[in-house]
Amino acid sequence: MDGIGPHRIADIWGTRTPFGREEDWPSRVDTMLADGISEDEVERWVQSACVLCSNGCALDIAVANGRIVGVRGREVDRINHGRLGPKGLYGWQANNSPDRLTEPLIRRNGVLQGASWDEAFDLVVARSSHVLEESGPLALAFYTTGQLFLEDYYTLGLVVRGGIGTPHLDGNTRLCTATADFALKETFGSDGQPGSYTDFDECDTLFMVGHNVAETQTVLWARLLDRLQGPDRPKLVVVDPRPTPSALEADVHLPIKNGTNLALLNGIQHELFKRGWIDETFLASHTVGLDKLRETVSEYPPERVAEICDVEAADIRRAAEIIGRAERLVSTCLQGVYQSHQATASACQVNNINLLRRMIGKPGCAPFQLNGQPTAQNTREAGADGDPAGMRNWQNRAHMDDLARHWNVDPLVIPSWGPPTHVMQILRLCEEGSINFLWITGTNPAVSLPELSRIRSILGQERLFVVVSDAFLTETAQIADVVFPAAIWGEKLGTFTNQDRTVHISEKAVDPPGQAKTDMEIFIEYAKRLGLEDKDGAPLVKWSTPEECFDAFKEMTRGRPCDYSGLTYDKLRGGSGIQWPCTSSAPDGTERLYIDHVFNTDTEYAEDWGHDLMTGGTQEKKHYSELDPAGRAILKAAHYTEPFEPIREEFPLLLVTGRTVYHWHTRTKTGRVPELDRAAPEAWVELAQDDADALGICEGDWVRVTAPRGVVEAKARVSGIRPGVVFIPFHYGYWDSAEGDESNGRPRAANELTITAWDPVSKQPIFKTAAVRVERIEAGDGATPAPEQAASAPSGARA
Ligand code: SF4
Repeated sequence: MDGIGPHRIADIWGTRTPFGREEDWPSRVDTMLADGISEDEVERWVQSACVLCSNGCALDIAVANGRIVGVRGREVDRINHGRLGPKGLYGWQANNSPDRLTEPLIRRNGVLQGASWDEAFDLVVARSSHVLEESGPLALAFYTTGQLFLEDYYTLGLVVRGGIGTPHLDGNTRLCTATADFALKETFGSDGQPGSYTDFDECDTLFMVGHNVAETQTVLWARLLDRLQGPDRPKLVVVDPRPTPSALEADVHLPIKNGTNLALLNGIQHELFKRGWIDETFLASHTVGLDKLRETVSEYPPERVAEICDVEAADIRRAAEIIGRAERLVSTCLQGVYQSHQATASACQVNNINLLRRMIGKPGCAPFQLNGQPTAQNTREAGADGDPAGMRNWQNRAHMDDLARHWNVDPLVIPSWGPPTHVMQILRLCEEGSINFLWITGTNPAVSLPELSRIRSILGQERLFVVVSDAFLTETAQIADVVFPAAIWGEKLGTFTNQDRTVHISEKAVDPPGQAKTDMEIFIEYAKRLGLEDKDGAPLVKWSTPEECFDAFKEMTRGRPCDYSGLTYDKLRGGSGIQWPCTSSAPDGTERLYIDHVFNTDTEYAEDWGHDLMTGGTQEKKHYSELDPAGRAILKAAHYTEPFEPIREEFPLLLVTGRTVYHWHTRTKTGRVPELDRAAPEAWVELAQDDADALGICEGDWVRVTAPRGVVEAKARVSGIRPGVVFIPFHYGYWDSAEGDESNGRPRAANELTITAWDPVSKQPIFKTAAVRVERIEAGDGATPAPEQAASAPSGARA
């Protein structure tokens, strides 16, 4: 690759461009072109944004000879000011991979074989019709991703909820951002990030909980590093069991025991109350629930919390003091909270901390409930996960009637008699046999869901008809009855929204390979062939182009929190992305929400009427109205409980799974990119020096990790991780693992070990607290295929 600047695999965050508080982040344009291609040879630069994490860095796609040949960061964009990280710079090569799916596949005599679109559609539609006739809509389910475009999701949501009428529609955003969504709804009445990326430029204090930003959103970390190395360095408090790059930069690092976030966050609030670092006047006028919160956290003095979390009480006090004395506080959380024990309860405490300090709705002040996937926000807004479209409340009859009016369907068709079905429940219903048609788009549950032996047996059932739309023959596609070849980023037009509400347009740069179609086209054709109609007998889906879909979507959002009504494709072209809400009164978008400290909690407007954080019990309108938040934020309190699977003699270590900077999800794309694959080619098992010594394990030895549900075998990396904790990256499955490889066909997917358990409120599966044991099975050669940079660096290198 011809990169501008140093090699960006080793130099993950690029050169520093320090800046001070309230200054503009300097631009730095990162470019990567295929070997042998110069900028002069690029025929076209096509506007887009990166789809390899939630940051949503704007870029232009380089095209030559009908192929994608590189990318260049967009200097004018508010998100990245021209920068790109390793995945953005190299990841586009997956589009050109020779093993892209180019024709539909149908399973015949047990083998997937090439077929025409007509044959594949005929089979899928015949099976859908049969299941609908025999068992009704509740026997069909759909499971999508966080990586399609808004237009794909909105079409899917309409077809499934407004046409077929099943509540069984979820996204794999359930695994990454369901807790963000619920924490925002519980506290503020609706989804929608209160803050803006410019708050990172203007804060004086950063509080990061379970957020390994240096690896999960590299360009955001580049922005923070530039603040940390510039004048007016913000103070930094990091909560993470691993010595992540942000932890190494921190003023206070709290490497707490897995599953104890809630105890720690209660302890910090205890100190804020005790030391008077709260704004009583603001809280009295703009929040409800203060007394209950005060009473709850009073039981968490630092000494008790230190014992639960296994950190020093003095460090908890120091962290609380930094937060308590902050004048502009930005808090963030991600999977260390969302995929852990008491996820929503903990994420709500992060919201509480900013509210207690009145750090919201003004520059440099926001709690960020960040996203994982690039288009996760759109699954939530467009109604392709567990939320009805347009951030409507499924319990509110008026909301659902309004949605039915937009879709011109009978309100009774749209399932709203109970909560939408989350993916773990969908799988349970498949297991029990009440669902026997499952369509999976752009995601790979055979590697990404917990307890894989169970997932494989569910998906492989004879009675379950599985359809997969994907660009590659993933582990899940290999099990399917029908596979549709999908067009991906760069091959279709559409929009998507990043984690600070910035909407980008992504133009079509090249044609998809072979007969591949966009997901929107596939859903429209499916609806047509299935005969789905509106209540007047007209075709249910009224659009045939992405722009027509976008126009229908934005009309549907008018007046809702995610109001896109002022946006057009043309407006998104040429400049920076634009933040919603974008309306006639805010035509340039809205930088931050809640500047008037009026929140979306009015009973009739709220997207959700809340839950009991301990049990997940859904609150009815009557109880919510009695709380009478009426525009005030809701301080929700909860007590700490022990994680579900405690360590014990047979399984004395705690497993945590997570990402490396070089890969994305199950490596469907990044595993096909030579630079990224070489940087992290194989799974590894990371453990602390003390644990390695006790188990007689050296760097590079082969080890077996055993949980009650399965085993993983991989080479050991002895790192600076907290003693008692084992880390395995969750990216590795089996599509490129075989006998003769280094892995030699060994079990290497981290989810062989994880537990079937989820947060009671967000229903997000728990990936951070399984009990395991580790043993050495074979001497190694001293080398481990783990990256030498970031959180996985060997302990020796760090010393
Ligand atoms: S930070 Fe995320 S969006 Fe930006 S280039 Fe990297 S992977 Fe892409």
